[in-house]
Amino acid sequence: MSAKRPYGPLPARITLVSNRTDEILDCTLAGERLSPEDAVTLLREGKLLELGAAANHVREGKNDPAVATYIVDRNINYTNVCVYRCKFCAFYRPDSKHPEAYVLSFDEIGRKIQETIDLGGTGVLLQGGVHAELPFSFYEDMFRFIRTSFPTIHLHALSAPEVYFLKKMTKWSMRDVIARLREAGLQSIPGGGAEILEDSVRRRVWSLTKVPTAKWVDVHETAHGLGMRTTATMMFGIGETYEQRVEHFRVVRDLQDRTGGFTAWIPWTFVEENTALDGKVETAGGFEYLKTLAVSRLYLDNVRHVQGSWVTQGPKIGQTSLAFGADDLGSIMIEENVVYAAGARNRMTQPEMRRLISDAGYEPMQRRTLYDACKDACCATPIPVPKERAGTLPVVSGGLESEVASA
Ligand code: SF4
Repeated sequence: MSAKRPYGPLPARITLVSNRTDEILDCTLAGERLSPEDAVTLLREGKLLELGAAANHVREGKNDPAVATYIVDRNINYTNVCVYRCKFCAFYRPDSKHPEAYVLSFDEIGRKIQETIDLGGTGVLLQGGVHAELPFSFYEDMFRFIRTSFPTIHLHALSAPEVYFLKKMTKWSMRDVIARLREAGLQSIPGGGAEILEDSVRRRVWSLTKVPTAKWVDVHETAHGLGMRTTATMMFGIGETYEQRVEHFRVVRDLQDRTGGFTAWIPWTFVEENTALDGKVETAGGFEYLKTLAVSRLYLDNVRHVQGSWVTQGPKIGQTSLAFGADDLGSIMIEENVVYAAGARNRMTQPEMRRLISDAGYEPMQRRTLYDACKDACCATPIPVPKERAGTLPVVSGGLESEVASA
């Protein structure tokens, strides 16, 4: 028999927090905005369960407490050729002559989308590589092909680095580039390329200047100004400080205050296998992930949806994220290539996703890309087909490698 334990009774509230973190949480739950300094204090001194309980309380105030959502879609990478060679990336091939380099044909993209629809999918997330030899017309043709061939599928595509590269290549304004892509069928833009939105961190993990924080913001702010929705992501655990992580929160919250255009906040952790940073930075494990997720939910009081990352953290931590501020588990990932190349091999079927959510105590609900609920009828509703190309802007016939490092 074990000896009698010298512990007293459990307190009514878990009180293993410093007075300061207790005070910060009380103020935040009373509706006060979290300051950057207080967010850093919570990351440094906050106790995991206290942070989770506070974040969950906020999540329940913003979204149906009984429901957790997910989406059936597919990440399609139209090319793996990329001029940027980021140190944290295991996916890219440096040029089109590399034996493993590819650009998907439209037929192949169509086959993948049809497979997605057959599995109950409602959207695709379409991204490169930033392939310097593809002309602007390639993107217009690809989007128009998808939207005319698959009018019920939501096209969530590109990322700030790709859009910014197209701006440099064409020398058009950001507004013209995005407007033209939208006219061809682009419906919303994922938050990719954010990494940590603090330029000293960005420079450290890049090989070439890709998209500085101000340019990432410009892409999203311009898209929002055109009435498009985008998502905000953060890849953390790449050797950044808490202050730099919170700076990223600040950039996103400030932009959301100005535009309200982000549908969701999606923090996820860096996976290092096969990358140039493997073994060189302190990556984030489950504890750090959940703590950061919770504090970000508290900080980003103006973003309604927060996505839990089961893809990089595995299904069990993904499930736990629903108690730490997440109201959604994202995609079942029929296909994903980028973090897969870096060692994150998690996959899930729709029944497994539903089981994961219901085992955590929530009703699973399939949603579409912009978080509209996915009832049977909505998936069959065609999205308007884009008009023919207006032809008011010049068509650029080639890429522009020389612009890569000059951002
Ligand atoms: S992370 Fe994106 S931009 Fe960077 S090398 Fe990989 S594919 Fe290219």
